[in-house]
Formats: sequence, structure tokens, C-alpha cells
Amino acid sequence: MRPWLRRTLIVLAVLLVLAGAAYYWLIVESHMPGDASFALDIDRVRAAAAEIPGDKPASIELEEVALFTFPATGVVAGDGWQGTPLPVYSYRLIYPDSSIVVDTGMTEAMSDQLTSFDAAALSRVQAAMSTATQIVVTHEHMDHIGGLTSHPNLANVLPKARITREQLSHPERSLPAKFPDHALDGYQPLVYDHYHALAPGVVLIKAPGHSPGSQIVYVQTASGTELLFIGDVAWHFRNIELQRERARLMTMLFLKEDRTAVFGQLAALKRLHETQPAVHIVPGHDGPVIDALVAAGTLKRGFSP
Ligand SMILES: [Zn+2]
Repeated sequence: MRPWLRRTLIVLAVLLVLAGAAYYWLIVESHMPGDASFALDIDRVRAAAAEIPGDKPASIELEEVALFTFPATGVVAGDGWQGTPLPVYSYRLIYPDSSIVVDTGMTEAMSDQLTSFDAAALSRVQAAMSTATQIVVTHEHMDHIGGLTSHPNLANVLPKARITREQLSHPERSLPAKFPDHALDGYQPLVYDHYHALAPGVVLIKAPGHSPGSQIVYVQTASGTELLFIGDVAWHFRNIELQRERARLMTMLFLKEDRTAVFGQLAALKRLHETQPAVHIVPGHDGPVIDALVAAGTLKRGFSP
């Protein structure tokens, strides 16, 4: 073999190996780091849920505001390139004479990546925010906070919104959702450490990782049903089941996640699922999980007028 040809082949082989390693690392690799940990003490959460006396939520409604479709490996690393659906939800906890909105959806203008959008659903969510007694978001990303930042009567609803200090401290994480200039003047964000009793049967659990302001919303209904709205700690239950994160390309380049923190939460949620199977874990964007909870009567589709 001629020396120049030999050199060229060696360079090509090295490049191929490097490209393969980069592909594996960015698209497929998803091992649990040794130092991943997250404390989720369900007994303390249950105790906090009983801290505020009063009736617990009688029912939980949901609206599906929009639909994204991502490559499967962006949701669960190594799952391939076929499209997988990620619906965008808003929830409403119905009390005998009040209500709480959990996550607020987004507007159609906030993304050019949407597969579909339901303007009527967003209108119902924003109307529900007007009559709600409290509004919380699992985190500051636009598909969860966007229905609030774009609310047509923000001055009316903002005083009822319990947005945390962490959720407001990184406004660039919410873009293109953005509070109008001066809308937050004088606003007192919610400040808490690990658990916060929000209302009878409702506890916020701080869970930074997917974003700095991520939190989990625990709900215990009047009938004793327990749900954990985990926001985007996991987009699909499969992340918990397989203990696999989103592809690193997604978590590093687009989300700028604390991957180790999210892995710790995935491990804690799996342990909880194994030891407390009656607690319904509700991932951020998992259509089949939601469908099953609706079929079982645990969630009701559509906000009642
Ligand atoms: Zn989301």
C-alpha cells in the first residue's frame, strides 16, 4: 500500500471512531451517575398535606393545550429517531368552593415546533386561572408558565400565582415566555426549602435539576387518591421505568439540565413506585399515562365551565 493511502485510511478510521464515540455519548449513553441522589420522604410529604386543615380536592381536571413531537431518543436516550408525542397539559384541582391551577400551558406563538395547538383549551385554562384561588407551575419553561405570562388579565391573576424565587431567578429559561415589563414589580415570590404545604392535600416538593425552578406537586384528594405531578423530571414514565435520562444532546445543548440531579430524582421516583405503587406518578408529557388515569376516573378531561 502506498504510504499516502495508508495515512489517509488511518486518519479516516480515527475520525470514524471519534464520530461513533461522540454519537454514542450525545445520543445513546444514559448511565446512572454514582453520586445521583434525591431525598423524597413520602411520610413527611403526607404530613405536610395534612398541615392545612380543610377539605381536600374533590376532583382533578385537565386540559391538553398543545402537542410536540420529538425524536424518541430526545425523550429516552437510545430509543431511536422515530417521532414520539409530548402533549402539553394544564391541571385544575377542584375544591368545594375554590380551585388551584397547576401548570398553565402556552400560546401557539411560543413555538414553531408544535404538531398541534388547541386555542379553545388555552382559553379555558386562562379562564380557570381568573377564578382560581392559587396558581402554581411545576417549572419555569414556556410550556408550563406560558399561559400565565401571556394571561390577558395578568394583573388580576398574578397575585394568586405562587411562583417560586427559583422560577423567577432565571427568566432566560422561560423564553420565549416572558412576563411583560414591570409586571413583576412588587411581586413577592414563594420562598421555601424542601416541602411547602400549599393547600389542604397539596404539597410542593423542591426538585431542581431539569430547571433551577423545578418542583413536584403532591396531591391527595378527598377520597385518598395520591398523585405526584412531577413536571418534567421525566417527560415519559419510561424514563423512570428504565432509569434513563433524555439524550445528552437534549439535556446539555437545549435544556442545560443538571443531569445528575435529574438521575437522582428518577431513582427516588422508581423507589417510590416500587414501595408505594398506589401513588400515581404523572410525568410532564406522557399521553398514555394520562389516558389511563382518565379511564380510571382519577383525572377528568376538560375544565368544567
Ligand atoms: Zn414541559
